[in-house]
Amino acid sequence: MNVLVTGGAGYIGSHTVHELRNSGFKAVVYDNLAKGHPGAVPAGVPIIAGDIRDRDKLARAIADHKIDAVAHFAAASLVGESMKEPAAYYNNNVAGTLALLDTLLAAGVKKIVFSSTAAVYGEPAVWPIEEDMPTVPTNVYGRTKLVIEHMLADFAVAYGLAYVSLRYFNAAGALVAGTIGEDHAPETHLIPLVLQAALGRRDGVAIFGTDYPTADGTCIRDYIHVTDLAAAHVLALRHLTTGGGPKIYNLGSETGYSVRQVIDQAKAITGAVFPVREQARRAGDPAVLLASSRRIKAELGWQPLYSDLDTIIASAWRWHSTHPDGFREFAPAPQQP
Ligand code: UDP
Repeated sequence: MNVLVTGGAGYIGSHTVHELRNSGFKAVVYDNLAKGHPGAVPAGVPIIAGDIRDRDKLARAIADHKIDAVAHFAAASLVGESMKEPAAYYNNNVAGTLALLDTLLAAGVKKIVFSSTAAVYGEPAVWPIEEDMPTVPTNVYGRTKLVIEHMLADFAVAYGLAYVSLRYFNAAGALVAGTIGEDHAPETHLIPLVLQAALGRRDGVAIFGTDYPTADGTCIRDYIHVTDLAAAHVLALRHLTTGGGPKIYNLGSETGYSVRQVIDQAKAITGAVFPVREQARRAGDPAVLLASSRRIKAELGWQPLYSDLDTIIASAWRWHSTHPDGFREFAPAPQQP
């Protein structure tokens, strides 16, 4: 089975490409390489450098590689940036996905796994979060993902599109071998920032808010290992290829850790000492985000295997400590036109 992976050179996309290959799928990466890294893609996997809004190139890729299904990661995904540049986010994410869906349907491809996000829930009042709780995103990024979920649902009814939307909580960690991992520019996520501080690449780490209504005053998040996310995509594709219909699933570890707990655990694992500064809250951060993943466990048999905090941080440390410059030290992989 041939799977087009949009955004397949990105963080979660590239880990999913590895998992697809390990599971006997043929992956084809389609990525505009604005943020993605060809070095994150396993050797032998075709990389097509293209934007999802380029319908002609997309149609050619689908035909040339006899695509059966799509895993759709390509998106802009920075919350702060989305508030400053909403037009770019609606264009890239919403118009981009519309172009993708139009092109897929025209080619007769009706199976898609979509990268959604816990940001569709906004600031939930109760935890753990179940899929049928209200979706009231508090930022543009989350709204673009929610619009796409509505689009998928409407297309399912009208055109018979079969989709699985996966709402990720806090993706973290790296391939357990440490050969690929997270490399964003700029980096905004807690665990890579902490590990860069542990490496001496930053002069310490900031805690954004110590006055939240949590046990230690810092935000609680549900960190989920990127390989467990990748495995969920394989299960979702199997669901679709065996005739399964539309589904929406949360993907979280169902365990919450505070910012302080993450920093303390990273210090213990790395043995590094670095300054920690307490700062004001970051706008738009909910106090607690904690998933219920009961639905995907019950329906698809998903079980996270790597999402305890030790394994998440140790795998990320293996990647960062052996690749302090991220993918910059990789030779670019050959690309298809
Ligand atoms: N955070 C922090 N310092 C940082 C970066 C993040 O205290 O330098 C906090 C952030 O406020 C949030 C948690 O760490 O509570 C996880 O943030 P991240 O940006 O990794 O993911 P998000 O929850 O925003 O998707």
